[in-house]
Amino acid sequence: MRAAVPTPAVSATVSIVIGETTRKSGSFHQAATTVGLLFRPQIPNPSSPTALPVDCPRCENRGVLALDDDRTIACPLCNNWCSLCLEGVPTFVHIIRPYRGSLIAGMRPTIDGERLFEGYVCDYHKATLRSYSSIAPPMVGCYEAGQSYIAMQGRVFVVRYAYGQAANWQELEDAARQVVASYRYAPYGSELYPCPAELAAQVVR
Ligand SMILES: [Zn+2]
Ligand SMILES: [Zn+2]
Repeated sequence: MRAAVPTPAVSATVSIVIGETTRKSGSFHQAATTVGLLFRPQIPNPSSPTALPVDCPRCENRGVLALDDDRTIACPLCNNWCSLCLEGVPTFVHIIRPYRGSLIAGMRPTIDGERLFEGYVCDYHKATLRSYSSIAPPMVGCYEAGQSYIAMQGRVFVVRYAYGQAANWQELEDAARQVVASYRYAPYGSELYPCPAELAAQVVR
């Protein structure tokens, strides 16, 4: 998948936000002076980079989907902004506005070692991760890094959560295909399936 191409719609939203900020700058500046704050650069609020599109069928315009345990995840159709763009994590190119991302589990290097990351990431920020694998919303919070699942993308892969396909995925493909055939539908959607323990035990890192 390639990174989302900048769209006129998003640019338009940005300029609208700047316009609003400018219009309100008189009162804001006064308030800011009162509490001793400096006037910040006029950037759109990163927590809501753009308005939701009209009528999203997936989330019914809530912008989030419900997961188990009262948790939610941003809607993959209309609110899948790269969270590393929103955090301002540096990349090899200068990111000036958030890109949309695809949902992944990945290993993110930190000063304390690698940490499991689950969320939306653009292609630029994928390159900042040690490894990653594509996942579906119902999988978030249910897997540990390195746990196996099965992905069908033409061929059938045994995948290690946040690491990518098993080193010996080709040897395991026939068995994995039988697992896939035992399901009437993909439990997680997106052609992603649980991996039985006996198959997971054969995974080579
Ligand atoms: Zn939506
Ligand atoms: Zn990004």
